[in-house]
Amino acid sequence: MKLEGERWRTLVSTVRLGRDEYRVVRPARPLAHAPLYLSGHGAQMIVDKASARELAMAWAFAIRSARTLVYLPLRHTQYACCGYGDGTEALQDLVLMHDTLAFPASRWKDVRARLGQGRPHTVDILGLPEVECAEYEAEALRHHGAADTVFISGSRKALALEGNALRTLVEECPRHMHENPGTHCCAEISAGEVGDWLHVIYCAEHRVHV
Ligand SMILES: [Zn+2]
Ligand SMILES: [Zn+2]
Ligand SMILES: [Zn+2]
Ligand SMILES: [Zn+2]
Repeated sequence: MKLEGERWRTLVSTVRLGRDEYRVVRPARPLAHAPLYLSGHGAQMIVDKASARELAMAWAFAIRSARTLVYLPLRHTQYACCGYGDGTEALQDLVLMHDTLAFPASRWKDVRARLGQGRPHTVDILGLPEVECAEYEAEALRHHGAADTVFISGSRKALALEGNALRTLVEECPRHMHENPGTHCCAEISAGEVGDWLHVIYCAEHRVHV
């Protein structure tokens, strides 16, 4: 199903910290099935269809929102399904942001503690753009970690380029899994020099019913 035209229900918080003010957007309801953890050379995120769509909508929104921290609280996800790794890795939250925001990750713990309830806001999703790799060769996403959170940051172009894999994941993989229920369906998102730094995988067990 197309992402374009979807409506993403969010909560918006404005957090003041010293002289700075940060706008944080998070899903109105937490993602039920999206454990995220660090393993090997990158991060693994295990999703069902609903969580994959939430992630893709968050990503589409992040591309167009240079002044916002897009926050997916995932540490308390209801499912503990895992992919690669030994199953003991600590669960992480995810924050997507533009690097022009220059947000110091060391402040995240304080920002997160001040989010409050947030104001409900519905975002009209314009979809994830189809972009050619060649156009954006010089762009790469960056990643770092702080306060049990994985931060992925980059330029608008870098976010758009890597968003391609998520568009395929939500718009095409449901058909792959319908035709071949056991198939490995994932999105590989590059960061730094690693081509599949963030590996978003459909859960082998919970892919069909949601
Ligand atoms: Zn697929
Ligand atoms: Zn994979
Ligand atoms: Zn790999
Ligand atoms: Zn699962």
